[in-house]
Amino acid sequence: MKTSALGRIALATGITALTTGLIPTTAHADDATVERKVLPVLVEFTDSSFQHPDKVKESTPDTYFGAKKDSLASFFSELSRGRYKVVPVVDDQYVGPVKLPMAASCDHGEINTLTQKALAEQGLVRGEDYDSLSMVFPAQKTGCSWAGLGSVPGPYTWINLYGTASGLGVVGHEFGHNLGLGHQMRSVCTDGNLVDCKENGTSAKSMMGGGGPAMGISAPEMIRAGWLDDSEAVEVAESGTYELRSLHGEGSGVRALDIPMGEDRLVVEYRHAAGSFDQNLEGVHAYRVPKGNYGSSSLIDLTEANKTAGNDAPAEADAITSLKDVASKVSLAVTSSGDGGVTVRVSLNGEDLSDVADVPEETAAPAPEHTGTDTDAGDGLPDGAEAKSGGQEKVTGSEGSEAGGSENLAATGGDSGTLLLAGGGVALVAAGACALSLMRRRRRA
Ligand SMILES: [Zn+2]
Repeated sequence: MKTSALGRIALATGITALTTGLIPTTAHADDATVERKVLPVLVEFTDSSFQHPDKVKESTPDTYFGAKKDSLASFFSELSRGRYKVVPVVDDQYVGPVKLPMAASCDHGEINTLTQKALAEQGLVRGEDYDSLSMVFPAQKTGCSWAGLGSVPGPYTWINLYGTASGLGVVGHEFGHNLGLGHQMRSVCTDGNLVDCKENGTSAKSMMGGGGPAMGISAPEMIRAGWLDDSEAVEVAESGTYELRSLHGEGSGVRALDIPMGEDRLVVEYRHAAGSFDQNLEGVHAYRVPKGNYGSSSLIDLTEANKTAGNDAPAEADAITSLKDVASKVSLAVTSSGDGGVTVRVSLNGEDLSDVADVPEETAAPAPEHTGTDTDAGDGLPDGAEAKSGGQEKVTGSEGSEAGGSENLAATGGDSGTLLLAGGGVALVAAGACALSLMRRRRRA
């Protein structure tokens, strides 16, 4: 069969490249930099091949490692401000197509097992030669309800590819899961006291909450990823007035306030156009972090409005100007804004905000050591990184239930206990980024 022959040729070429083409590992630029060796593998089934293999092969290096801003490497480099580098493993930057000895199916575990077996036969071993495995396969016969699937956290992504390329909306989102991020939901609390909050859709403030790559990720997710240090994500230990700069963009300053709120945390950010991010988003937003699990935060929306990257609502439509949680006696108010920054007054003990003293940022309480450490070398965080996790392997029930509508799936390949979250597809209300790409596909079709 023609496609099989193509596959074999490609595989043979791949083997040739592999014997000579392993890219040597470079040392970390500094302790704060993570270098992630990512291996995209094009896989085909006994009864299903890529319809346009040459175009898939051409697009894959661009999608993962290209110089343009819409590559995974560029995206994470800008978002992390150089802390997270996505690097290729082999000269061709991808392997395949590899023909797996299985009929087309959505059995992600079997796809993973057989792909790793095929790679091992080529001398490529996960954890040694590559850190992260991204399996890209033709969607036509798999029957998957999702466009992408990612382990949370973990090293695996599955891309159920229609057409010739998956955009950053799918690939970036699934790699976000690998960083330990679940889907970011939206909690509407219009009574203003955070008591009667109702979950209503996704945050739209993050690519993990249906915002697409243009929204980057939110402050609690930046903390979870280890991309804000203690001077950038300040733990608020006493009432006071704090200056916040924009969450994204170059420069220094405080980018997030991390406030105790009962058993949970309240993370506050200021979103403002910066680089590739937040061109249509302006204002202060707040998130509830359940029991310190920064990968499972939800937007606290005090309005019925929901500013997304794509809708016509004003950029500041659902920004907050003040917030009060009666139960934990926490309140805050935005007291000024301008010049790319805002001033936020915070009361931790029920004290009237007008009585909170204006204290310069420098005299704010020094941030204590972040609680929670992450020793899982497989989740893409630097060794010993002070990533705030606090149970990063747990995601909320709603997130878990989105994995194809089934129970929490155990990942294959030795990461039992790791959850998988799918993006895109009919059952997946939260994966706006992936749903977006599905819509684009339909238009092309
Ligand atoms: Zn997802």
